[in-house]
Amino acid sequence: MKRDYYEVLGVSRDADVQQIKKAYRKLARELHPDVNCNDPGCEEKFKEATEAYEVLSDQEKRSVYDAYGHDGLRRGAAGAGGFGFDGFSGFGDLFENLFGGGAFGGGAFDGGPFGRARPAGPAPGQDLAVEVELTLEEAAFGVEREITFGAYGVCTGCGGLGAADPSSLKTCPECGGVGRVRTVRRTILGQFVQTGPCPRCGATGQIVESPCEECRGEGRVHAERKVTVQIPAGIDAGQRIRVPGRGGAGERGAHAGDLYVHVRVTPHELFERRGDDILYGADLTMIQAAVGVTLTIPTLDGDEEVTFEPGTQPGEIKVLRGKGVPNLHGRGRGDQEILIRVLVPRDLDDNQRRILQEFEEACGTEHYGDRDEGVLHKLRNWFSS
Ligand SMILES: [Zn+2]
Ligand SMILES: [Zn+2]
Repeated sequence: MKRDYYEVLGVSRDADVQQIKKAYRKLARELHPDVNCNDPGCEEKFKEATEAYEVLSDQEKRSVYDAYGHDGLRRGAAGAGGFGFDGFSGFGDLFENLFGGGAFGGGAFDGGPFGRARPAGPAPGQDLAVEVELTLEEAAFGVEREITFGAYGVCTGCGGLGAADPSSLKTCPECGGVGRVRTVRRTILGQFVQTGPCPRCGATGQIVESPCEECRGEGRVHAERKVTVQIPAGIDAGQRIRVPGRGGAGERGAHAGDLYVHVRVTPHELFERRGDDILYGADLTMIQAAVGVTLTIPTLDGDEEVTFEPGTQPGEIKVLRGKGVPNLHGRGRGDQEILIRVLVPRDLDDNQRRILQEFEEACGTEHYGDRDEGVLHKLRNWFSS
């Protein structure tokens, strides 16, 4: 049973980032296994606190955790393919960020006290962003897309090992395969016996005697990559899908970056989307509007017979419930709203004009009363959103 992250850090649920950071810093000083904690349980507690910090200090992860708890982080919040969060990025980097690389692990061998190029060990893969263009229907109902892009992928020649063959991988003599070596450091907090990444093997614990020729020992090659992405139903333009671990491959087995798929949607020739609703404009002749008509109206689900009552007015909106876009979070479907235009005939010949004039005399003005005060109001809503 995992403990609640707020409980682990000893902060309230509405604590701000500064409070969270402060609480974690305090715990980290008490618990860091390289500093002054001899209790074997310390390392577990330290990891627990670090995990809690990594989630609560990240706005995105924190809101998922608040809404769904530990399960949400494990499974992904939306449950749909490609959403959610994978494991933690590792304690080393986080610690570097928090303490500026000085006080505890890392940093000892690459550049002295004044900054460092990057954490020791094989470089992790990069996060990548790609764009995908969907039709309105694809965005509405979801689609599987194969996306092609150039990026680092795991070397097929060596499976990411970086070695020509597994027998040329040797245990590092400097660290005995552990990947870390112990050193003594003096800092403003006092003298620490600490461990740092092994400089000989780059913290991997292994040395490659003959590197793979394809990747020159890097374990990855830059190539055209194909990734199949499940686009969830209800996605909209401007949103992005995170595909964990499908970004650039890392060096020699370091974790891969994430792939971010940015969604664009091609304008539709009939429909406009507003949230989960679909807007559509229907044209009625003035006679159809007056006497009523049944027309074939396109919807996302195909053509549908829709009846317009006698006396339908221009600017009225007819709503087809549940004919909109499925909600991204599974909350049903939006509606299709049909905005009605009424067409007035042009260029009438003498006979046609005469018939209408006869009608005008027979009808008078009593049939033109405005019974729907809400029309203008509705219209305004339609166009202002
Ligand atoms: Zn290789
Ligand atoms: Zn080593």
